[in-house]
Amino acid sequence: MIRILDARFVTTAVSPEQYPSATLPEVAFVGRSNVGKSSMINALVGRRKLVRVSKTPGRTRTINFFDVDLERDRARRSIRLADMPGFGFARVSKSERKKWEPMITTYVAQRQSLRAVVCIIDAEVGPTSTDHQALDYLTDAGRSVLVVATKVDRIGKAKRKPRLSSIAKQLNIPENRVVLFSAVEAIGVDEVWEALLDSL
Ligand code: GDP
Repeated sequence: MIRILDARFVTTAVSPEQYPSATLPEVAFVGRSNVGKSSMINALVGRRKLVRVSKTPGRTRTINFFDVDLERDRARRSIRLADMPGFGFARVSKSERKKWEPMITTYVAQRQSLRAVVCIIDAEVGPTSTDHQALDYLTDAGRSVLVVATKVDRIGKAKRKPRLSSIAKQLNIPENRVVLFSAVEAIGVDEVWEALLDSL
């Protein structure tokens, strides 16, 4: 059982000197713009508006840090979440993309307190070529990755388990590194926390 005790915004950063000091184990969230990342973080911490759910996709081009205090089996822990800018959004110009995609790679390469990266994909759409690129990059960087396939509420219940298997197969990762999720129906919340806490 996971219980969230508190969740709070820490700071916004675009470059390493602006990152908060590396005092807590950190988990980063990456995904294509509009994939449902903000909704996922809000659902994980049980707060509707901790992360603003963007009206204009692709607008969040900063790294936002949040601290979460939680209790698991009566043990308290604190963990820092790093919300990365969404990538691969077509309406963002190439020059703008050049500015923020290095934000993710710099962070992933340099951040010493980073313990795991949640790579968010759309459960209905399945892994896109940008998702494959992101996963390859993270794996090559030696990072521990958890793939969370969101918006699973859009898939019929009987099709969910087969979809999980097919996503794992397409990405060539073990099935226990993929979690099905829905911010709308609060599916997968405990499973994501369990997987993340196990990898800290
Ligand atoms: P972000 O750009 O990745 O942060 O994505 P948002 O969290 O802003 O969500 C993008 C859109 O997807 C919004 O219209 C959300 O309402 C919708 N959305 C997010 N999560 C879910 C989900 O679990 N199920 C469904 N059906 N829609 C979702």
